[in-house]
Amino acid sequence: LHVPRLTLNTGASIPQLGFGVFLVDPGETERLVSTALELGYRHIDTAAIYGNEEGVGRAIAASGIPRDELFITTKLWNADQGTESAYAAVDASLEKLGLDYVDLYLIHWPTPRRDRYIESWHALEQIRANGKARAIGVSNFLVEHLERVLAEGGTVPAVNQIELHPALQQEDVTEFGREHGILTEAWGPLGQGKYPLFEEEPVVAAATAHGVSPAQVVLRWHLQRGIIVFPKASTRERIASNIDLFDFDLTPAEMTAINGLERDGRVGSHPDEVN
Ligand code: NAD
Repeated sequence: LHVPRLTLNTGASIPQLGFGVFLVDPGETERLVSTALELGYRHIDTAAIYGNEEGVGRAIAASGIPRDELFITTKLWNADQGTESAYAAVDASLEKLGLDYVDLYLIHWPTPRRDRYIESWHALEQIRANGKARAIGVSNFLVEHLERVLAEGGTVPAVNQIELHPALQQEDVTEFGREHGILTEAWGPLGQGKYPLFEEEPVVAAATAHGVSPAQVVLRWHLQRGIIVFPKASTRERIASNIDLFDFDLTPAEMTAINGLERDGRVGSHPDEVN
């Protein structure tokens, strides 16, 4: 397995493919994360609000994999935005994960109505200075939110994690990231199974041509666009196939055909609506 690594604006590197655990039952998390680690995943994406950081932590501890070979992300929940509350939240997450530091700590949503994301960003800068997060970033930030962080915050976010899949390609936010050294991570890379992505003609055609599954085509499309992905899957077979993406290349024509599936097809919440 040769999962490529991308370089963050901190100089550290991040595996371009990981395993996400949104909606993974806390009782199932240790088993599924252990399976992912056994199959070669080294990047895990969780969040305080997922309620499964303990399970992630148990799988990490049981794996025996050296800490510096793992890349662990967790996120600051909306209700914990602020200064002291963010410090307490990262400590609680580290305790549950059984770690001294995370590789990446994100503000989960901008929650513009709370208007505390700039204050929270300064707290994350302190968390990074204290060594509790090696890199800090944001999630679900629109261009206007990123612009405020760049104008008022000292540190450029290492990543912005946003809903991104063929029906919602987020060109404006990803282009802004490219201009400013912010890597884009896709959440819901498979559209969360909420629309028939795997039946779209360009996806099916490429799957047939390469002898792979439609899900593998979509994940490969993300990787060839320079996007970081961490698909969630609940069976060993799918966890294995979602990392088996490195012995085929989509052609430029196949990439273009999939790019043609854009239709402003958001399946999750709009960032301005989440509080
Ligand atoms: P996803 O697009 O990864 O879709 C997961 C769904 O696809 C599951 O229902 C799964 O059964 C199905 N699936 C997975 N592999 C498949 C395969 N090989 N063939 C067919 N079906 C397959 O959606 P997601 O889990 O929501 O997103 C991935 C990760 O992104 C999450 O686990 C989480 O870590 C992160 N996330 C972040 C936010 C945020 O606000 N920052 C929001 C949602 C998710």
